[in-house]
Amino acid sequence: MKVEILPALSDNYMYLIIDEVTKEAAIVDPVAPQTVLQAVKDAQVKLTTVLTTHHHWDHAGGNEDLVKQAGLDLKVYGGDERIGALTEHVKHGDTLSVGRLHISCLATPCHTRGHICYHVTCPEDGTRTPAVFTGDTLFLGGCGKFFEGDAEQMHTALIKILGVLPDNTDVFCGHEYALSNLQYGLHVEPDNPAVKAKLDWVTQRRDAGLPSVPSTIGEEKQYNPFMRVDESSVRQHCGTSDSIDTMRALRDLKNNWKPAA
Ligand SMILES: [Zn+2]
Repeated sequence: MKVEILPALSDNYMYLIIDEVTKEAAIVDPVAPQTVLQAVKDAQVKLTTVLTTHHHWDHAGGNEDLVKQAGLDLKVYGGDERIGALTEHVKHGDTLSVGRLHISCLATPCHTRGHICYHVTCPEDGTRTPAVFTGDTLFLGGCGKFFEGDAEQMHTALIKILGVLPDNTDVFCGHEYALSNLQYGLHVEPDNPAVKAKLDWVTQRRDAGLPSVPSTIGEEKQYNPFMRVDESSVRQHCGTSDSIDTMRALRDLKNNWKPAA
């Protein structure tokens, strides 16, 4: 399994997931169809599948054009009827294959009610670590806004669904928000060395024009406050004593927080 990171718009990421043996490929959130088709051509792969995380235009807005321009019989997956060109409406636990790749759908409603994360493994390739494509549910160091859900749902998504994936699972998220997320993380936990270390690393990456993705589930648990709602340091910052209250408080506080200039 190989993952190509394709930046789009101002801070979105699309991902071309390739099975290097069969040369079949899937694209996650193809908002910029021309970029996708060029990458498919350059990699000399056969695109069969579109994986849509959610219906927002900066993720699903390229689906219809891609299907038209590709001239291929693409299967378009998603968990929301508002997604353009949708052919396969999936729910939690549904699975599909792309070549040798095994993909399972993880429903994580909250940012939008139909949000799906895609967990990808290649059981035949014992050396490749699993990957999860988290759209606007889990970001490096943060999480999406609760547009169509509540703190309890985000708690389920981050702690009970994504948080139980193996620590070595690569996390490919939908936006490059790492710097501001980690600055908020440092504001929440000024004494957490993992936040500072990741912030320093991401600063270097971004200064060099490189993406911060992927991180891993294990790493996120070290520095992402939204995955650390059971830590006393995070609860103390929020003035809370319960995981879901902490999740709600973290989101509310971040919505009104600006990094120091
Ligand atoms: Zn969104």
